[in-house]
Amino acid sequence: MSGSARHHSTSDASALPSIDHAERVRTIVDRLPSGDGCDALLVLDLTDVRWLTGFTGSNGWAVVRRDGATLGTDGRYRDRAVAETAGSGVDVIAEETATALEQRLVETLRGAERVALDASTTPHSRWTRLAAQAPLEPTDSSVRLLRQVLDDAELARIERAARAADAALTEVEPLLLATGDEPMTEHDVRTELEYRMRLHGADDRSYSTIVATGPVHGARPHHDATRRTIVEGDTVIIDVGALVDGYHSDMTRSWVIGEATPEQVARYALVAAAQSAGIGALAEVGASGVAAVDIDAAARTVLDDAGYGDWYVHGTGHGVGLDIHELPMLVRTSRDHVRWGNVVTIEPGLYREGFGGFRIEDLVVVTEDGPRVLTQSPKRGVR
Ligand code: ZN
Ligand code: ZN
Repeated sequence: MSGSARHHSTSDASALPSIDHAERVRTIVDRLPSGDGCDALLVLDLTDVRWLTGFTGSNGWAVVRRDGATLGTDGRYRDRAVAETAGSGVDVIAEETATALEQRLVETLRGAERVALDASTTPHSRWTRLAAQAPLEPTDSSVRLLRQVLDDAELARIERAARAADAALTEVEPLLLATGDEPMTEHDVRTELEYRMRLHGADDRSYSTIVATGPVHGARPHHDATRRTIVEGDTVIIDVGALVDGYHSDMTRSWVIGEATPEQVARYALVAAAQSAGIGALAEVGASGVAAVDIDAAARTVLDDAGYGDWYVHGTGHGVGLDIHELPMLVRTSRDHVRWGNVVTIEPGLYREGFGGFRIEDLVVVTEDGPRVLTQSPKRGVR
């Protein structure tokens, strides 16, 4: 009980449940067309490669055929590839030169009558070169579609990332709100948050933390933090996420520094109401899912009805996983569906130069029992 040891609020990544890549390979094999057994899936997108095999290097491909999966990479990553795919049954090929590695890819595909490849993420030049040597067939990114349903091991990583961001923000919020006594810049706030997320168990930040303050920067949804000093009366948007074992978190909170004006109070309340409506709409997701446009509309209508439709200049949310922007996209033009097992953001906002802006964003896992919010930081916004 006595406290000579120092404890951090999170433990190391080794305590995370392992991800079952062998199961993922089996899922893909089951989806290959049956019959002559000649077909193959070629995976070139590195996030897809990671999802399928666990390999985290910056150069590689994976091939799934009926008899299993092969990962190809270059010599720099030989040891890493073997270690990261251990136990998954994935065969590893490593070659010293790009030419040799490409030759091994063509050999791995030999005999396939059709090789499915995601056309949307494959550069045209790469497609053309490969198509001369293998019977490529465009597919609608079968791995990317599978990626949007997260399993418990993935959720554990995202939850840990969300906790690291929550812990960092808990420490930085009082500094931000006391900025009248001890002036902070946007850059100071970003630096503190990103440092503290790492102290609280994050491997890295999820993306460059947004600190958008005052009547000009606050009106830019994706503002890059500057040396601007935060002053009394400013609106402040902080959009912050952590990375744990490749998985992202994503959260936004907004404030007014000092005492808020009635106008600021009213606009903050509108954003909060829109955000609640968006999360509430996720409760409607049943066994067949819900159209993503309906979730977007639930939040958007609140702002539209109050006359702020043209202050809301982006979509309501997006999936989150190995990429910060996964499917489904919760935007006005989306054709995606939101389903159980999706982790999505709900993040409406209002922006106007001269006023600044507010955004409130939570990360939510959609379950059979309803939405469960993963980001826990309080929403203290206006006083
Ligand atoms: Zn965000
Ligand atoms: Zn987001």
